[in-house]
Amino acid sequence: MANHFRIVESEGLTDGEEQLEAIAEDVAAEPLPDLETPAEASGLIELPTIEQPASPSFTVPSVTDEPAVAPEPEPELPPMVDPLYAPLAAEEEQPIDRSGNPTISFRNVSLIYPSRPDKKALDDVSLDIYPGEFVFVVGHSGSGKSSLLRLITRELKATSGQVIVAGQDLTKLRNGKVPYLRRQIGCVFQDFKLLPDKTVYENVAFALECIGKRRAVIRGQVPEVLRLVGLADAMDKYPDQLSGGEQQRVSVARAMVNRPPLLVCDEPTGNLDPAISLGIMKLLDRINRTGTTVVMATHDREMVDSMRKRVIALEAGHMVRDQERGGYGFYGAL
Ligand code: ADP
Ligand code: MG
Repeated sequence: MANHFRIVESEGLTDGEEQLEAIAEDVAAEPLPDLETPAEASGLIELPTIEQPASPSFTVPSVTDEPAVAPEPEPELPPMVDPLYAPLAAEEEQPIDRSGNPTISFRNVSLIYPSRPDKKALDDVSLDIYPGEFVFVVGHSGSGKSSLLRLITRELKATSGQVIVAGQDLTKLRNGKVPYLRRQIGCVFQDFKLLPDKTVYENVAFALECIGKRRAVIRGQVPEVLRLVGLADAMDKYPDQLSGGEQQRVSVARAMVNRPPLLVCDEPTGNLDPAISLGIMKLLDRINRTGTTVVMATHDREMVDSMRKRVIALEAGHMVRDQERGGYGFYGAL
C-alpha cells in the first residue's frame, strides 16, 4: 500500500520554537500520565480548564494559477494559536460553529474501484465536517469506511461527485498539489506503520526532516510531542521494544508533530486491547479539544457509545445515518 504519511514531502512550516519553550514549561508542570496500564488508561485524566481555542484552519493552494513546472512556494499555515502541546481543554465540549466553510465536504460522492466495476464502494455520499469536529465513521467491515478516508487524503479519486477539502475540489486537484494537502493531514492507521529500523525519536523526527525542518526545531519539537503522548522515556527504543499501545502513541505523535489541522484515523484502536484503546481514544479526544478536526473510522462499538460524538454510519457504501452525539447503533454481528 502507498505510504500514507506523505505530508512529509515539502517545505517546513512556521517554526514555533518560542512557543515550544513556553509549552515545555506547561507540559513539565502538567505531565501526561502514562496511559499504558489498564487502571490508569480507564481513569479520567485531570485536565486544566482553558478557553476553547479557534480551530486551526488550512488551505490548499489554488489549482488554477500554478505554473506547470515550477510551483509557487507553499503558503505557510497561519501561526498556531493553539499548538497541540498547549494545556489541554476543558471537559465541557464547545458547540461546533457551522456558519463557515466545512473542512470536508462530500457532495453526492460515489466510488467504484476499477477492479470491481460492478460494485459501488461508496454510493451517493453527502456530508459536511466542520473545523474542530470529532466524527466517528462506523459500519461493518467492507462498508466503505477506509474508502471514505482515502478520498479525503486523495489517495483515491471519487468516480463521481465532489470531495472538497480545505476549499479545494480534490477531484480536480493537480497531482503536484497533493503533497501540500497531505502534509496538512495527520494519518493514524490500525497497523501503526512505524519504521522498524528507526527509534521512536527517529520515527517522529523523520516526518519533520522530510519537510525540511531545521535540526534545532526537530530537537525541540520531537521530545515535546513524545512527552504529550506519554513516551518521553521511550525515545531511544525501537518499535519492536514497545507494546501495541505504545507503538500507536508513537504513530499519533508522528501524525501530530507537524500540527496538522486535520487528523484522519483508520481503525486506530483495531489492534489494541480495550483498556489500551481507551488511552488512545482519550489522547485523540485531547488533540481534538485543542481544535484539531478528527475523523476516525472504527467498528469499536463500546468506544463509540461511550464517547457520544457525531457518528456517520455506512452500510454497503451508503451513508445510512449522520447523528450528532450518536452511539454505534445496531448492525447485528460485526
Ligand atoms: P471498510 O474500511 O469499511 O472495511 P473499505 O472501504 O475497505 O471498507 O471497502 C469498501 C468496499 O470496497 C468493499 O466492498 C471492499 O471489498 C472494496 N474495496 C476496498 N478496497 C478495494 C480495492 N483496492 N479494490 C477493489 N475493491 C476494494
Ligand atoms: Mg477499513
